[in-house]
Amino acid sequence: MNEAKLSGEGLMVYEAGLDERHQRQLQLIRHMAEGLSQGEFFLQFQPKVNLADDQVSFAEALLRWKHPQLGPIPPDEFIALAERSDLIGQISRWVVEQAVAQVARWSAQGVDCGLALNLSAHDVVDPALPGIITDTLRRHRVSPQKIILEITESAVMRDLNAALSNLDALRRAGLTLSIDDFGTGHSSLAQLKRLPVDELKIDRSFVLSLMPGTEDERIVDSVLRLAHALGLRVVAEGVESAEGLDVLRRLGCEVVQGYYFSRPLAADDFVRWWQQRRTVPAKDSAA
Ligand code: C2E
Ligand code: MG
Ligand code: MG
Ligand code: MG
Repeated sequence: MNEAKLSGEGLMVYEAGLDERHQRQLQLIRHMAEGLSQGEFFLQFQPKVNLADDQVSFAEALLRWKHPQLGPIPPDEFIALAERSDLIGQISRWVVEQAVAQVARWSAQGVDCGLALNLSAHDVVDPALPGIITDTLRRHRVSPQKIILEITESAVMRDLNAALSNLDALRRAGLTLSIDDFGTGHSSLAQLKRLPVDELKIDRSFVLSLMPGTEDERIVDSVLRLAHALGLRVVAEGVESAEGLDVLRRLGCEVVQGYYFSRPLAADDFVRWWQQRRTVPAKDSAA
């Protein structure tokens, strides 16, 4: 912060702090649209590993923004800002276009891997979204089965009825829907039952330090039972250790994702990682 902090005037410190944060937010919003057209945004890819056969048939596309002066800005920061301005629609369209184009390029290179992309709360209720996605798929000749849409519980619950008609349309079009960050929102079981989804991702907060005999293990076990009772496949995100992976295998989790396998990678690095894993079909050669 600044002088105010050094002079130790309580109220001043508070105001100065707020102001600084507010200024950064305005600055980021001002730069965002320009950054998108100037090539400052890019995607990274993190493998989703199927535990049944150790194969990677999908990766998650994660958005990155590197501003030339401000440096890397984390998505948790700029996505929230984009949602509060009207930039989110533009950003999401960009992500859909890039992700589908990437799947098409990989397919042409013999890399048979689909992508999961994250939608925001705004996208989930945007009536234009299903059409945009299906047009993009057609244009790039990519099968809808190659795309998973990750949607947070809280985004869907904000306006369940509007979300449901959009999600139904997307699913009818052949896309796979996934509930992200499960366990951090407030959906009731009745609401969960109504969602036309195929996959549930256990929030990483329950997975990061997962060990046998812990409360996290009991939570993960319950979520797996609930999801399986609803006919859903389960992904654990944030797998960082062999111990956590062992617990997930034993409890019957289908798909895992986390630094234990790989951090999110640039497209070229991801292809190398994927091809290497293909040619060396080793068990647990992850780390
Ligand atoms: P998310 O969709 O839940 O993504 C998973 C986050 O966990 C990513 O953070 C990923 O880098 C991180 N992660 C994966 N494995 C591990 C691990 O083993 N340990 C730890 N500590 N973290 C791990 P990231 O990339 O910072 O993204 C944060 C959030 O930003 C995402 O959470 C998602 O909600 C949002 N986001 C990212 N890309 C997009 C996008 O294209 N559109 C929208 N709307 N949101 C996005
Ligand atoms: Mg996600
Ligand atoms: Mg998540
Ligand atoms: Mg998240």
